Amino acid sequence: MILFNNINKWYGDYQALTDVCAEVKKGEVVVVCGPSGSGKSTLIRTVNRLEEIKSGQLLFDGHDIHAPMSSVALNRLRSRIGFVFQSFNLFPHLSVMDNIMLSPMRVLGVKKAQAREKAGQLLERVGLSGKAGAFPAQLSGGQQQRVAIARALAMEPPAMLFDEPTSALDPEMVGEVLSVMRGLASDGMTMMCVTHEMNFAREVADRVWFMDAGRILEKAEPETFFRHPQHPRAQRFLSDLR
Ligand code: ATP
Ligand code: MG
Repeated sequence: MILFNNINKWYGDYQALTDVCAEVKKGEVVVVCGPSGSGKSTLIRTVNRLEEIKSGQLLFDGHDIHAPMSSVALNRLRSRIGFVFQSFNLFPHLSVMDNIMLSPMRVLGVKKAQAREKAGQLLERVGLSGKAGAFPAQLSGGQQQRVAIARALAMEPPAMLFDEPTSALDPEMVGEVLSVMRGLASDGMTMMCVTHEMNFAREVADRVWFMDAGRILEKAEPETFFRHPQHPRAQRFLSDLR
């Protein structure tokens, strides 16, 4: 579903990604972890081309994301990739319902009644049926993030990317967002998640990728990664967490 083929990425003269080869298969949940500055956000942002790459090939659902293309074509591709950030980025002047209905109507040309019905179902799925008419400022951080997830899902993307979706939340709200993500995973959604929530990784991930200094140093099943990390850097990272 997402194929990284020898990706190299530079910011000026700083190499942020080096020879990254990896694959997220359809239906798989991959958790990307690693120390601050290791390139996790950079890597996930290359998938919808929020970051350009210097060399390599990145295939999403068979499409070469970094091939030359018109902005229309790029936007169409991007609309197929659900992205949830640390900051929720809801439109503050729109109600929860309108936040979710906007892109399907604008980008996909979905009719209003249909968009509304779908949004209602998604709100139910993220446990916010009662909040359709609320504005983002009236919601807690955890509720806003769940709306952001519903909004991404409204485009019916074949895969979802998460970059530290719970890092900006008060601790008591982390669980509700992770539980929505768990639900998505068990429904078979293909997911790539950057997160420091190691319990989530342990329980939900099919694969864990450990990054340091722009490289993926280890890819393993969570059981293996947490019990017997192979790379000394991964061993140090995990023992620092304890
Ligand atoms: P964190 O856990 O703190 O979010 P990260 O693993 O997501 O870290 P990145 O944000 O991908 O790390 O950054 C990787 C490296 O690239 C860092 O050294 C960072 O300083 C550098 N970097 C990131 N964005 C830019 C930019 N726009 N310009 C220059 N350097 C950048
Ligand atoms: Mg980051």
